[in-house]
Amino acid sequence: MAVSTPPAGEFAGREQLRASSAEFRKEVIEITNGIFAAVGYSASNVTLIQGDNASIIVDTSANPVDAQAIVEAFGDRLLRPVAAIIYTHNHPDHSGGATVFAGTDRPEIYSHRTLVDAAPEFGRGPRDGGDAFGTKLPDALFINAGTQLEYGRVTPHTREGFLPPTRTFDGDSETIDVAGVCLQLIHTPGESPENTAVWIAGKGVLIPGDDFLKSYPNLSPIRGLKLRPPEPWIASLDRMLSLDADAMVQGHMRPILGRDEVRRALTDYRDGISTVLEQTLAGIRQGRTPDELVQEVRLSPELAASPYLQEYYGSVVWAVRGIYADYVGWFDGNATNLNPLPPAQHAARMIDMAGGAESMLARAGQAVETGDFQWAAELADCLLAVDPADVSARQVKARALTELGERQLNATARNYYLTTAQFLSRGGEGAGAAISPLAGEKGFSRS
Ligand SMILES: [Zn+2]
Repeated sequence: MAVSTPPAGEFAGREQLRASSAEFRKEVIEITNGIFAAVGYSASNVTLIQGDNASIIVDTSANPVDAQAIVEAFGDRLLRPVAAIIYTHNHPDHSGGATVFAGTDRPEIYSHRTLVDAAPEFGRGPRDGGDAFGTKLPDALFINAGTQLEYGRVTPHTREGFLPPTRTFDGDSETIDVAGVCLQLIHTPGESPENTAVWIAGKGVLIPGDDFLKSYPNLSPIRGLKLRPPEPWIASLDRMLSLDADAMVQGHMRPILGRDEVRRALTDYRDGISTVLEQTLAGIRQGRTPDELVQEVRLSPELAASPYLQEYYGSVVWAVRGIYADYVGWFDGNATNLNPLPPAQHAARMIDMAGGAESMLARAGQAVETGDFQWAAELADCLLAVDPADVSARQVKARALTELGERQLNATARNYYLTTAQFLSRGGEGAGAAISPLAGEKGFSRS
């Protein structure tokens, strides 16, 4: 990864994000004798564990097409029959290719019991997710999806390759013996409530699901999900640390090899979550507002430099906002904000103070020219609050969002900025959604 020598300059984030795509190059990696990981063939990794004349598969990739490519890449390392498939969690990119691995072998399918009730993630929230994954961006604008090369962009996720679990466990953990391999399944809620880590003690290999990824964790995704509760996640990471694994094959990106490196990775990850949680809660106790807290809460310089906490996918700022909303609700404590003016009224008065719409539009255009992109977008939003069909304001906002998007390290931010900019530039449709494309643009819905 490019973290040790970050690129300099205005577009350093984008160049670092581009460099991170090296994590997704296709390779079957031998983790240790008898355990292999297929990295880069799908949105998520698949792990193959060889047993006595049979195989165990942990996670199944996003869909049958990807799964077939992985079966071919494993080649004769995949010993038939597949005796067991284990799901770490229910996200569609991990559970969509099971039929291909199962073939005609009728394996047991293991998961935690909570997976059975867990809808695939996109079905969990009342709002569709917009396009944090950049599925509709033209190739020239797309870099990656943060912790995967792409997510539903080339081959949409379907459930056609999913097989429901046949063996579930309740509670904390369960030890199973499959084809002579002893595996401990450990319920480790974190990135998802059902997340299950697989621990192969005899080989020193830990498969943590998505509780660890090589990015600052996505505690509070922008795609319309609740906060992923940080406290159980921290506890799960502590549990994994106690195993002293020699290697770790997480759900995305290249595995972590070597006991010291695994320890460092899990420690940094845990500390990256806990410091943000602690600082945010301390700020809340002092009456700080979310807008203040995002200016104040920071990773230590050591954690900020960790290759495991770069903000490719999650973001400290969004974690702060998510924690705030989850712990104390929507109200920031400022009485002015109990009943604010409706946005169109507020904007009309700001425009009047600015000397009229043309004057404000001119100022927004100047702000783009001078690199003051956020201010340009905020001024454009005033104009669009009054007239969502204002073509000039839409164009200025699109330019500002494009410039902001091109300066992001975070893939989901980049994808969202650039997709919204494209939507605004197209013009003529969904005018009511000029502030947020989530408000009415059918093109953004995700099936
Ligand atoms: Zn995943």
